[in-house]
Amino acid sequence: MDASAAPPLTQPRKADPGISFDNTYARLPARFYARLPPTPVAEPTLIALNEGLCRSLGIDPEAVDETTWAAILAGNRLPAGAEPLAQAYAGHQFGVFVPSLGDGRAILLGEVVGTDGVRRDLQLKGSGRTPFSRMGDGRAPLGPVLREFLVSEAMAALGIPTTRSLAAVASGEAVYRDRVLPGGVLTRVASSHLRVGTFQYFAARNDIEAVRLLADYAIARHDPDLADMPAPERYRAFLERVALRQADLVAAWLMVGFVHGVMNTDNCAISGETIDFGPCAFLDAYEPGAVFSSIDHGGRYAYANQPRIAAWNLARLADCLLPLLAEPQEEAIAIAEDALAAFGERFRTAYRAGIVRKIGIARPREGDAELAADLLARMAENGADFTLTFRRLAEAVGDPAADGAIRPLFADPAAFDSWAERWRARLVEEGPAEEVAARMKRTNPAVIPRNHLVEGAIAAAVERGDLGPFACLHAALIDPYADRTPDDRYTLPPAPHERVTVTFCGT
Ligand code: AMP
Ligand code: MG
Repeated sequence: MDASAAPPLTQPRKADPGISFDNTYARLPARFYARLPPTPVAEPTLIALNEGLCRSLGIDPEAVDETTWAAILAGNRLPAGAEPLAQAYAGHQFGVFVPSLGDGRAILLGEVVGTDGVRRDLQLKGSGRTPFSRMGDGRAPLGPVLREFLVSEAMAALGIPTTRSLAAVASGEAVYRDRVLPGGVLTRVASSHLRVGTFQYFAARNDIEAVRLLADYAIARHDPDLADMPAPERYRAFLERVALRQADLVAAWLMVGFVHGVMNTDNCAISGETIDFGPCAFLDAYEPGAVFSSIDHGGRYAYANQPRIAAWNLARLADCLLPLLAEPQEEAIAIAEDALAAFGERFRTAYRAGIVRKIGIARPREGDAELAADLLARMAENGADFTLTFRRLAEAVGDPAADGAIRPLFADPAAFDSWAERWRARLVEEGPAEEVAARMKRTNPAVIPRNHLVEGAIAAAVERGDLGPFACLHAALIDPYADRTPDDRYTLPPAPHERVTVTFCGT
């Protein structure tokens, strides 16, 4: 064989990864954004590159070497085809309207169409100041970057709509918060970054033409089947779709004990994806009133308040769309209210189906939702761990002896016993125990991103430069339904000294 015809053993690495950008947001009118490149950082190093996600976006993770990836994902080098910009948006923050927020520390590089045919944004977060930065430095500490990486990837693995994390990079620069911290940049992937607050930005300026353009743009991206529907029906249908997605999303959050923490309208995505993992957290002990954000004193964004807040956010979207729905306004309001009514109905249906599925019921009937609610009430009263209780229930379906692992989760184990008796009587009608147990294990995760685990992995990475715990936790989080040994630390609640009760907004 002619050796000269053989391909070289290693392909020469290129300077550009050849990302097939296909940008549409940059085609919208100039008042939708500010064009500017990211601000380079001192010394970028690649902490994590999500190779599977790269491939699903049609990006070859091997196309360039690690140093080049670090430069690109830190914003030091623009990949060919990127059209960097900061998006404009407004938002209600803790109920107070701020007419101009926008990407104060993020840059949209552009859009790619993945192997699934879905268009997604590639955005750098922590990439420097923009015209929307206000008093901020445009940067992100590495800790919150790693946090978003872990939690967003965990959400995706749990099967919950979410933005994803393509990469985390350390900037080699200091970021000044209440103390000096190392900086980082996250590459966020989202099916779009359109928010309720994006609509509010234009509505607040009485720029109805922009609201219409934005609505049609959002429909093209998220509800293309509505695109040919005549106006104003199209906008009513769009509002209803957004409401349905939010209803499904919040129900899914509640099923895994997720508390978003900052459900401001600027953090409420039109796509129905979870976005912005700031002071979010997962419940350990079940506590409906749980709040984690250090600045949420009124409990506005408490665990059990999330459906109400989602509905409130949707009403703010409806406010923006009124001029597109009908004239006079009273008529538009009636149409909007009708569309938003879909939220409550869908949420209740999704929640009921989800919560009875968690206790092993696939064919719900009268009384099942009450049975599940009764368990939750007992868990709340007895400080039972949310994730462990449900996961261990799966093991106890066919084996009452396995109750021994559940009872100690309750301050008063007898509170579990009397419920378990009724539960078993009901489950007899749900089919063979092994089948029910297998089903329950597919709906009740063993591993969630518990705060103490996430904080521990971040501390190791940021304070000691040890990425081992981050990598191990990541591996556990992306396989959340797998069986693990009973003493596996990724499945266990925090010991008293490990407890993290507050997460800070100083991201
Ligand atoms: P968030 O709390 O992350 O949802 O951000 C709310 C708003 O504050 C958005 O407009 C962000 O772009 C902006 N923001 C947050 N942190 C910074 C920062 N360090 N520098 C500039 N803007 C920021
Ligand atoms: Mg935000």
